[in-house]
Amino acid sequence: MPEATRRHDEVLADIARFAGSSLELPEVLERIVERAAALTGADRASIWLLDRSGQHLLPSALFGMDSAFTDEWKRHPLPLAEERLSQEVIATGQTAVVEDATIDQRTDKASVEFFGDQSILVVPLARRGRVIGTLFVNHVRQRYHFTEEDTETATTIAAQAAVAIDNAQLYGEARRLADQLHRSFRHAGEALATGADVGANLENMLQLAVETTGADGGALELLEEDHRTTYAIAQAGRAPDEGVARSRFPLQGAAGLLGTLELWRESGPFSDGERALLAAFAGHARSAIEHARLYANLQEERKRALQAERSQAEFSSMISHELRTPLALIKGYSATLLRPPVPLAPERTRRFIEGIDSAATRLQRLIDNLLSASRLESDMFTISPQPLEVQWLVQRAVSAAAVLDQQREIRVDLPEGELWVLGDADQLAQVLENLVSNALKYAPGNDPVRVSAARDETRVRLSVVDTGPGVPREAIERIFDKFFRVGDGASTEGTVESQGRSATTQPRGLGLGLYICRRIVQAHGGRIWAENGPEGGSVFHVELAARANPGRDLT
Ligand code: ADP
Repeated sequence: MPEATRRHDEVLADIARFAGSSLELPEVLERIVERAAALTGADRASIWLLDRSGQHLLPSALFGMDSAFTDEWKRHPLPLAEERLSQEVIATGQTAVVEDATIDQRTDKASVEFFGDQSILVVPLARRGRVIGTLFVNHVRQRYHFTEEDTETATTIAAQAAVAIDNAQLYGEARRLADQLHRSFRHAGEALATGADVGANLENMLQLAVETTGADGGALELLEEDHRTTYAIAQAGRAPDEGVARSRFPLQGAAGLLGTLELWRESGPFSDGERALLAAFAGHARSAIEHARLYANLQEERKRALQAERSQAEFSSMISHELRTPLALIKGYSATLLRPPVPLAPERTRRFIEGIDSAATRLQRLIDNLLSASRLESDMFTISPQPLEVQWLVQRAVSAAAVLDQQREIRVDLPEGELWVLGDADQLAQVLENLVSNALKYAPGNDPVRVSAARDETRVRLSVVDTGPGVPREAIERIFDKFFRVGDGASTEGTVESQGRSATTQPRGLGLGLYICRRIVQAHGGRIWAENGPEGGSVFHVELAARANPGRDLT
C-alpha cells in the first residue's frame, strides 16, 4: 500500500474513532476539520450547520484561521440566503466544486478576496437523508484541481462528521431526557411528600413518555383490588387505531403486578432504544405509585393512631369527670352531715341523705354501664333468659331511675292484664333504666316522663317518651353507636350540632348507655330505635318477642 494511501486510511480511521466517542461535539468537529484539511492538502476547512429554522448557518468548526477571528465569527450565524454555494449544496445534496473562486458565479467575492480563496470544495453533511450542513475545504495559496479521490475523502469525512453530530445530539437528547426525567421525578417526589395528587404526576410522566418517543398516545392502567379489572389512572395523546404498533410494559411492584404502561404509534414499531426508554418510564411510574400508596397508608395509619390516642385521652378525662362529680356530691353531703356547725333541720338532713343516695346511684349506673360495655364485648357475654313479667320489669327500672330526679313524675301506662317476655331480668332492667334516666336527664323541666307498653300477637313494645328537645334527625341512628353523643365534638367524628345543644349545654355522659341498650336488646333478638314525637320530645322503643304467661301456658 502506498504511504499516502496508508496515511489517508489511518486518518479516516482516526476520524471514525473520535466521531464515535463521547467527546463533546465542538471538540470532535474541530478535530475533523483539522484532519480534513490535512488529508486534502487544503489550507482551510470548516463545518457549517443549519440552525433550527434552517435559515442560518452556524460556523461550528473552523480550521486554518486566526483563532480570535474564528471565535468572533462563531458568534454570528450567516444567513443562508447570502451563501449561494451552501444554498446549492443543501438544496441538491450534491458536492460542489469551485475550481476558480475568483470567477465562479456562486462565490461571495468579498469573502474570496478577504481570505484569498482559490479553489473550494463543498460537501453536504447529511443525516438520515436530510442535509444538516456543509463541509468546506478551501485552497488559498494556489488554485487546486480536486480529484475524484479528494471528493470521496471529503464525502467520507462529512459522513463521519454527521455521525459525530448524530451521536452528540442523541447524547444531548438523552441528557435532556434524563434531566427532564430527573426533574419530573423530583416533582413527583415533592408532590408525594406534600400528599399532592399522584394522578397528576403520572399524567405528566406519561405525557413526557409520549412526547419523547413521538408516540401518538399512551395509557397508564392500574389493577383494581380484585386483581382482575384495570382502570386508567393517566392517559395522553389520542386513542389507538386498529392495527397500530403498541408497546406494553408491566409495572411490577414488590407485592405483585400494579398495572401496565402502554404506548402506541402509527408511524411504526418502537425501536429497541425507545423500548428501553419506555421501560425506564414504566419503572419510574411503578415507584411513584408504590411510594404514593405507601405514603397514603402511612398517612392513614398516622391518622388512625392520632385519633385513637385522642379518643383514649378524651375518654379517660370524661370518665374521670363523670366519676368525680357524684363522688364530690357524696363527699360534700356527708362532710356536712358529719360536722354540722349547727344542728341540721331533719328535712335538710333527709335531703342531704337523698342527695347522697342519688349520687351513689349515678355512680353505680356509670360503673354498671362501663362494666356492661366491656362485658358485652367479651366472649363471656351471655344472657340467661327466663320468663319476665313486663309490669314487674318496668317498675324495677323506674324505681331505680327515679332516684336521679325525685321531683319528677314517671308515669307508667301499661295495658290490662299481664305481659310476658323471655329475657335476662338484670339486662333488660338495665335497658329500661338507661332509657328512663336519659329521659330525665335530657328532658329538663317538670313534664312527666312516660313509660308505656303495648303488644300484638307476637311482640311486646315498650316505649319511653319525654318532652325534651328530641334527637336531631341525622343522629337518630348514631346515638346507639359506642361513645356517640349529640353535639359532642370530643368523642365523635362527624359530630352533629343541633337544636342549640352543644358539648357545653347538654348534660354530660359517656355515650355508652344507648350502645349498651342496643347490644342487650339485639342479644335478645329484639329491636330498639328512637323517634321524635309529633309535638317534640323523643320516643325510644324496645320491641321483644312476646311470651305467653308461663303460669298458664309454657309454650
Ligand atoms: P350519654 O347519655 O352518656 O351521653 P347515651 O348512649 O345514653 O349516652 O346517649 C347517647 C346520646 O343520645 C346522648 O348524648 C344524647 O345526645 C342522646 N340522647 C339520649 N337520650 C336522649 C333523650 N331522651 N332525648 C334527647 N337526646 C337523647
